[in-house]
Amino acid sequence: MKYFDKILIANRGEIAIRVMRACREMNIETVAIYSTADKDSLHVKYADEAFLVGEAPPSKSYLNMDRIIDIARKSGSEAVHPGYGFLAENHRFAKYCQDEGITFIGPSWETIRAMGSKIESKQTMKDAGVPVVPGTEGGVRDSETARAIAEEIGYPVIVKASAGGGGIGMQIVDDEKGLEAAIQAGMRIAESAFGDATVFVEKYLVKPRHIEFQILADEHGNVVHLFDRECSIQRRHQKLVEEAPCPIMTDELRERMSASAIAVARASDYTNAGTVEFLYSEGDYYFMEMNTRLQVEHTVTELITGIDLVKQQLAIAAGDSLPFEQEDLSIRGHAIECRINAEDPLNNFAADPGKIVRYRSPGGPGMRVDSGIHMGYTIPATYDSMIAKLCSWGMTRQEAIARMRRAIYEYVIIGVKTTLPLHHAIMHNRHFIAGDTHTHFLQEEHIIKTLTRYVREEETRIQTLAASLRQGKEIAAITGALDVYMKGQKKAQ
Ligand code: ADP
Repeated sequence: MKYFDKILIANRGEIAIRVMRACREMNIETVAIYSTADKDSLHVKYADEAFLVGEAPPSKSYLNMDRIIDIARKSGSEAVHPGYGFLAENHRFAKYCQDEGITFIGPSWETIRAMGSKIESKQTMKDAGVPVVPGTEGGVRDSETARAIAEEIGYPVIVKASAGGGGIGMQIVDDEKGLEAAIQAGMRIAESAFGDATVFVEKYLVKPRHIEFQILADEHGNVVHLFDRECSIQRRHQKLVEEAPCPIMTDELRERMSASAIAVARASDYTNAGTVEFLYSEGDYYFMEMNTRLQVEHTVTELITGIDLVKQQLAIAAGDSLPFEQEDLSIRGHAIECRINAEDPLNNFAADPGKIVRYRSPGGPGMRVDSGIHMGYTIPATYDSMIAKLCSWGMTRQEAIARMRRAIYEYVIIGVKTTLPLHHAIMHNRHFIAGDTHTHFLQEEHIIKTLTRYVREEETRIQTLAASLRQGKEIAAITGALDVYMKGQKKAQ
């Protein structure tokens, strides 16, 4: 069955290509949009048609709703896939599409709006019997209400923006003294980043795990979950390594948490693909938020279930019923995703945009690389620093780790600093290997210490490679570079 003839992908880079890949397999024509900074991007070449959407700043291009809808109309696109980021969780855009008779590939705009407010969604879930992190019942404007609640739940607490995302504006408060300043600063940041100054306060869980469930729901009342993902390894509250399933999951915990995830989807009249995020601490779990879109880390769920989530999104958006029931789904093996960002892990993850002068992507058994970059590509400074998703699959978690290590040795990216050495450090860390992670993992001393060593190794590797390249020795460059990492690995074991 052909769901659509032509769709527009309102995004760029890696995720635009990911969606187009599903469309190509489904014989659906694709329309790309691109900013002036992206005219040479792979997603532009990959699409059947491409339209310039505007200048480089997102507000003038990938967030320019009028222009995007105009292109959708002009190109005869029947539907729009928003990817993630940009307009993916913008209910006004989803409504705009609907008003124009264009299918928005995602949940209804009403659901997006309701879930976009962390305060509102938390309340809905509490009413539905789902455990939530203890905290204020609504927004706080002054420290009076906040202080009373903080006293009750106990410090530390966290101040969060209700309309927040991407970890922006979150502040941890250790005692009463810092509360007022954190609320004022939080409101300022929330206003400028999200246009909504509402903040709230909740208990700050020390060293929790971030565990989330993938949901698929059709328009006929069928809801299933596609198991769990662990996303505890984060920098600045943003995920860096994700895996599926969660290494500490038991049958009993999965049963409880998945029942809550389904309850969340039902309580929000959810349709399409979505993620229910929980924090887990000492045997208890708490609903944190629902992301009403495809996640960056959807790849690991695809690897363990064999289900193409983008294809399911398109089928659901076209009104089809889910082709499976919960009992039909099962987990096969284990998958890990490492986000490869153009940033300097030793300099507080500062972005490092620039030209990729050499690029060689890993392959072989159990590997998946989703990326929009290539040799000669210049990473623009304007957008997110994520340039590739390196994913491994193995029959066991151990095998997935071994394959990821091997892929990191094979991966050659020269020209910009990347998170590769950090992933190298994580994949060799004994706590990670034991599945013993939490959201503060990257701040722990043991990882910072080994990281410095691995970054030095990466620098040596790049120098070796560059020297061979100067002498015109392409193969020597690659093998020489691999050798540096291999030696590093032997040292680490
Ligand atoms: P955003 O929507 O900005 O990404 P989330 O609410 O999803 O923010 O939280 C992102 C991360 O912030 C979590 O994975 C966790 O590491 C941390 N975090 C959020 N709330 C808490 C909390 N109450 N206690 C401890 N950590 C938290």
